[in-house]
Amino acid sequence: MPDERGTDRQAGTDRSAGIDRRALFSAISNVSLGLAATAVIAEQVKAAPSEETKVEELEPFKYDIESETGWVGPGGSAKEATVKQLPVSQTIAGVSMRLEPGAIRELHWHALAAEWAYVITGRCRTTVITPNGQAEVDDFEVGDTWYFPRGHGHAIQALGPGECHFLLGFDNGHFSEFGTFSITDWIARTPRHVLARNLNLPEAAFAQLPQKELYIGPGQVPPAVEDIRNSELQPSQSAHKFRMGKMPPKVFEGGEERIVSSNEFPIQTTITANRMDLKPGALRELHWHPHADEWQFYTKGRGRVTIFGSHGRVKTEEFGPGHVAFIKQGYGHYIEQVGDEPTQILILFNSGLYQEISLTNWLGGNPNSLLTSNFGIGKDQLDRLPKKEVGILGKRG
Ligand code: MN
Ligand code: MN
Repeated sequence: MPDERGTDRQAGTDRSAGIDRRALFSAISNVSLGLAATAVIAEQVKAAPSEETKVEELEPFKYDIESETGWVGPGGSAKEATVKQLPVSQTIAGVSMRLEPGAIRELHWHALAAEWAYVITGRCRTTVITPNGQAEVDDFEVGDTWYFPRGHGHAIQALGPGECHFLLGFDNGHFSEFGTFSITDWIARTPRHVLARNLNLPEAAFAQLPQKELYIGPGQVPPAVEDIRNSELQPSQSAHKFRMGKMPPKVFEGGEERIVSSNEFPIQTTITANRMDLKPGALRELHWHPHADEWQFYTKGRGRVTIFGSHGRVKTEEFGPGHVAFIKQGYGHYIEQVGDEPTQILILFNSGLYQEISLTNWLGGNPNSLLTSNFGIGKDQLDRLPKKEVGILGKRG
């Protein structure tokens, strides 16, 4: 009750006015608070439904991103998961993109979202320009990630050999990859006399440029090393690339986690990523994330996720390669590995800092007497309960 706290503070700092005035002030406040509280209660009673409060069912939290056709062109393809496909995912969107060797995802920027990516197969190169005029060119292989803050201009090119497949993640569920700000779209919609002045070409030259958005287009594999056009440009002072697959993992009996927050990758201020590898039979223990939503993409193997949303509401879904899961901020959940193949999940959180509370850590932070009363169990059972995080449990012996 902020009102009550405010009253205490005021009364406490009013020492010079003497006890009488303070007491009087406090009494008046309490009377008016009491009246206000009575009014609030009356309001609630009036508004309360005659039957039990209706609780909304848990929303669907699974989507099969690879089941759609998406955008397909000569250079590659893109399939997306936004609020349109998975309405519960208001804060995170994702795209599964494939580029043929040499193909480009053209120069573009995103007005609404920052872009994160993880390379699943193949190799690619990115270019990015920052608002302070610094530029960066990076090459990526399997296990590498990038992060481009909202609005930074960028492009992607596959380096071959073979297709490059990567997962894109965006810190806004309403973001659509098919509504980005692309260089060809802008140029095609700008009067040629303006372009001629700005870009120092004759107006006729613009007739040869794409007359609509290119989006993804075929291209030649570039040389291994190539200078950028303006050799005077400063290299970016903050790396946009992080080698997630090469970082030392947190190792548990049943698997590993590689968690990359803004602590590990400073430019990645709006997203935390976790690559979770689960051995057959593993259980990712019961936990929740106090301040972030969780978005999962399965690259290998299968897993069964159960979420808990208060009022006795639980829901379970099984996931496999190409499936997306979304778990709301604060909702309890756990993952059971399924099948003989190890499971790999790319996980995103919509915060640059990682927070988790596990059931076991929580129990360890309480005295035995409280747990005895809470669960009605005896000492033998209490002694068996874990006292700290178990993370990923191994297959049951
Ligand atoms: Mn992009
Ligand atoms: Mn989680």
